[in-house]
Amino acid sequence: MIVIGAGFAGLCAIHQLRAAGFSVRAFEAGPDVGGTWFWNRYPGARCDVESADYSYSFDPELEQEWTWTERFSAQPEILAYLRHVADRFDLRRHIEFGTRVTAARYDGQQARWQVTTDSGVQATGRFCFLATGSLSVPQLPALPGLADFAGAIHHTCAWPAEGVPFRGRRVGVIGTGSSGVQLIPVLAEQAAQLTAFQRTPAFSVPARNRRLTQDEVRDLKQGYRRRRALARGSPGGIARPPVDRSAHADTAAERRAHFEARWRVGGTPSITGAYSDLLLDAEANRWAADFVRDKIRARVTSPEVAAKLIPSGFPIGTKRVCADAGYYEAYNRPNVTLVDLRATPVLAATASGLRTTAGHHDLDVLICATGFDAFTGAVFAIDIRDAAGRALREHWAAGPRTYLGLATAGFPNLFTITGPGSPSVLTNMVASIEQQVDWLVGYLRALRAGGQRETVATETAEAQWGARLAAAAQRTLYPQAASWYNGANTPGKPRQFMVFLGGLANYARICDDLARDGYRGFRAR
Ligand code: FAD
Ligand code: NAP
Repeated sequence: MIVIGAGFAGLCAIHQLRAAGFSVRAFEAGPDVGGTWFWNRYPGARCDVESADYSYSFDPELEQEWTWTERFSAQPEILAYLRHVADRFDLRRHIEFGTRVTAARYDGQQARWQVTTDSGVQATGRFCFLATGSLSVPQLPALPGLADFAGAIHHTCAWPAEGVPFRGRRVGVIGTGSSGVQLIPVLAEQAAQLTAFQRTPAFSVPARNRRLTQDEVRDLKQGYRRRRALARGSPGGIARPPVDRSAHADTAAERRAHFEARWRVGGTPSITGAYSDLLLDAEANRWAADFVRDKIRARVTSPEVAAKLIPSGFPIGTKRVCADAGYYEAYNRPNVTLVDLRATPVLAATASGLRTTAGHHDLDVLICATGFDAFTGAVFAIDIRDAAGRALREHWAAGPRTYLGLATAGFPNLFTITGPGSPSVLTNMVASIEQQVDWLVGYLRALRAGGQRETVATETAEAQWGARLAAAAQRTLYPQAASWYNGANTPGKPRQFMVFLGGLANYARICDDLARDGYRGFRAR
């Protein structure tokens, strides 16, 4: 087996494949394990799914020996956890670090993938797992003059391990998505002057992160089995049961009280998960959005600044809701300035800062919290070709086409973990990763038992899955936003909703039913 990537997905795949008796060779471009949590070391980075859920369930002893210290752990703790997992299960010996896979070619006669790396190493494997990440290829803004900027430039996903000094410096942040929203309040406390360059205001709710008490840790450790079962049976892969009530079933006063109660609990799903129809019904969505807009007005002292921070033009939740710790309050500080790029667009970077239509902003450091070439970026960075030499990039030219988000017609023995077309980023990713890896390992065992060495998704299965994916998205408000879920953040990318919206539990049921039905949709030999 070839596994590409050593984040949550790659480590899980290596572990489970090896446990099933397969030999594994893995490649990781970075110098260590961790993926997202190795690369995104910006101050304030932490998960927005509770750590108790955002962690592996495959080993009860691991659950008992690891202690999460916070409700939403910070990047260093999550990275330490993944390093611990790699050591605890002796996974590192399978991984070649600092080695980027540049090409993968299928040999139809041998039924094997041959991969080429940037270090000149070649390897072959019967099956190839792309555990390359949905959010692992950073995007820099295409600003004229960026190369002339004399200060330091950093992307949140390529953060130097030694950190970046901010004290006494004039810092600019471009981007106010989840990364910018986490970073800005921390920088505000350190920088002499912080300028946030905002193109689209995000909806953000308080994370209400806190340290876990000893009692909570004990209860968590005692309750893991029940918690995991709840998470697996839920749409989002988290242990909180979904609300099965329409917003229309409550009066305005009841709704407000309900939103308030959930606001106090905090976390990403607190408001958009408050009722079952908030992402289906425009009026219900507006009630939730207006609640958050009122909260923003209450959190920001200057009405002019608050007006710039109020999101509009897309339903709440259709771009990812951010979870913050003092984001809006940061704009109440005298050393923080908000620049609304819709009113005053950036014209160019200069040697000493950024020039907008309204004037020049002097900067010593420029941070790009400008997001990712999501889902397909890391896949297309590898020159993947079928036995006839046809590129996956061509097959996906009009947008990714997959069966279950796992496999692609014409490309046998190649699997994407949490790839486009799976529930992936609209669930707890660790739960989704484990579900997909376990299902695939089950399938590979079945193939091995049947003496089969090749499997491929059929064109029909792929087309039907694509239609199902699109239909599920059309039933919701999601297509109304220009988001990275549908490729709108990457210039030139075809617009297509890339997440299966049926939820994790439903998706797992579909996968299990297909398995019982002889892995319908795959052709094996
Ligand atoms: P990654 O962690 O991205 O790992 C992919 C690895 O593959 C990388 O290390 C990369 O270097 C390597 N790689 C890529 N291409 C190649 C190649 N060609 N050759 C060799 N190596 C390669 N999800 C949640 O569910 N909850 C959260 O709270 C959450 N928080 C997040 C916070 C941030 C800042 C970001 C950016 C994402 C967050 N996510 C969250 C999504 C997160 O990406 C996933 O949860 C998860 O970490 C993905 O794991 P992965 O192994 O699939 O991919
Ligand atoms: P993002 O959500 O794509 O946000 C990027 C931001 O940069 C947006 O505000 C975008 O504006 C802006 N931007 C992009 N290009 C620009 C340009 N050329 N000029 C000006 N502004 C520009 O990226 P992200 O914040 O890194 O988050 C990506 C995903 O990673 C999240 O949605 C989430 O899934 C995950 N994440 C999670 C957490 C967490 O809380 N655990 C933290 C960070 C990331 P537009 O909206 O106008 O495009």
